[in-house]
Amino acid sequence: MDNWNPAARVRGLGTSVFTEMTELARSTGAVNLGQGVPELAGPQGLLDEVAAAVLAGRNQYPPAHGFPALREAVAAHRLQRHGVAYDPQDEVLVTTGATEAIAAALLALCDPGDEVLAFDPCYDAYPAVVRFAGATLVGVPLAEDGNSFVLDADALRAAVTPRTRVLVLNSPHNPTGKVFTDEELAAVAQVCREHDLTVVTDEVYEHLVYDEALGHRTIAALPDMRERTLVISSAGKTFNVTGWKVGWVCGPAPLVAAVAAAKQFLTYASGTPYQEALARALGDVEAWAAGLRLTLRRNRDLLSEGLERAGLRPYRADAGYFVQADIRAWGHSDGVRFCRELPSRAGVVAIPTSAFYVRPDAPSYLVRFSFCKLENSVRDAVEKLVRAV
Ligand SMILES: *Cc1c(COP(=O)(O)O)cnc(C)c1O
Repeated sequence: MDNWNPAARVRGLGTSVFTEMTELARSTGAVNLGQGVPELAGPQGLLDEVAAAVLAGRNQYPPAHGFPALREAVAAHRLQRHGVAYDPQDEVLVTTGATEAIAAALLALCDPGDEVLAFDPCYDAYPAVVRFAGATLVGVPLAEDGNSFVLDADALRAAVTPRTRVLVLNSPHNPTGKVFTDEELAAVAQVCREHDLTVVTDEVYEHLVYDEALGHRTIAALPDMRERTLVISSAGKTFNVTGWKVGWVCGPAPLVAAVAAAKQFLTYASGTPYQEALARALGDVEAWAAGLRLTLRRNRDLLSEGLERAGLRPYRADAGYFVQADIRAWGHSDGVRFCRELPSRAGVVAIPTSAFYVRPDAPSYLVRFSFCKLENSVRDAVEKLVRAV
């Protein structure tokens, strides 16, 4: 096995900075604001129902496309919230988390040589899966405007080539916490219509927008967009159950059929005890989500104010789990080194935002802190950062 090499599609994907930082948190006992793993519990009724389902023997393969109750609940939720109708029969597919939905969608939509656009920085699964499909991910830089990230419509137009086939949108956005405004969504949709692009929109943070005025909009609701858009979401971030891996994809029947064709040979199907309980929880999601938003918004404010006091200039985060901070006032410009030193210097773990950029000239001075934690963890981290200045 001396000259054995892994296949090109996985080369360089070995140990990520996420694994390294999680291990550092474990070995140093530092407060872990690295990976976006919630410390908060899910709804008690949901947890009880799942426990009962397991004990009642609901432990074998679910239907390949998911239990009808969950597909119906997903369709009802999209219609009620966004006015976009999907047929639960053939326009909704349950997946093993949003991750599998993203993988199956990109495998179903991309041929080798195709180009896929994604706003940069982006969730780290996108470039990996685009590579598995033999396609190329092209990062479209989000511009920095003061303490915000904004769409650069010219950069988007400039990135489109005759090979561009798909645009991946993620709003609310990880890692930045950006919510694309109505104007930005309209500009993105216009480019997709002009160049006949298919859109994959990752909306896993759809319920975690902290600014009421912004709210969550889906690009699928814009004129002529439903027919070219696959909408992906999941239960993990909405109900604090990231270990359950139940997600779903909605879209026009031919696109969903193609995703299902790929998905059946990735996992076939999963999540039997979770699916029907989640169908009921999704029916009541608004009340639950309002409470979760209050908790997370308080944490976001504590973290942002604390970073400010510590001299680590925070960026605006309107949604999601994370705040970016500028580390330059601490005499650092390399986020990777900063994050390696932070556990011993301050007793806190964070993730260098460079891990989310695909373009080589990306800023290296940004670091991502997560606040999907118990309030005490956030307070503890903030005090440690302020003391370490
Ligand atoms: C967490 C996350 C996912 C993964 O969702 P799962 O349902 O856990 O697979 C996908 N996209 C983004 C942007 C995320 O932050």
